[in-house]
Amino acid sequence: MSEMRIRTGGCACGQLRFEASGEPKRVGLCHCMTCRKISGAPFSAYVIFAADQVTITGETKSWSASPTTEDCFCPVCGSQVFARDAGGETEIRLGAFDEPNLFTPTYELWAKRREHWLGTPGLESFLENREENAS
Ligand SMILES: [Zn+2]
Ligand SMILES: [Zn+2]
Repeated sequence: MSEMRIRTGGCACGQLRFEASGEPKRVGLCHCMTCRKISGAPFSAYVIFAADQVTITGETKSWSASPTTEDCFCPVCGSQVFARDAGGETEIRLGAFDEPNLFTPTYELWAKRREHWLGTPGLESFLENREENAS
């Protein structure tokens, strides 16, 4: 294996920062109503790492839409930066990374909530959650 690649990012104001080392487990989109409402965007894109691959610095506040997830945001600027789930994963918002075009999503969740004008060619599509995450 070559050396671990480090990718960085953070919130809009810069006080909340993260470093992710190595490659993500998966990259996907979610069109569910929670992702829509907490982001204000028609869908969210997530880069999912094992929790121990991610180092967070700065202050966070969090909110839980379900008992198994915790959405963490910057208390200063309100940016949605990452989420933690009970399965030991940290889901970083794709748009929170410092540069574009680091990752390409391969699947989408909650396709039944997708905006009709939004094309997602080539993505594996799940009407709701991925089967193994359904709970
Ligand atoms: Zn901030
Ligand atoms: Zn969602």
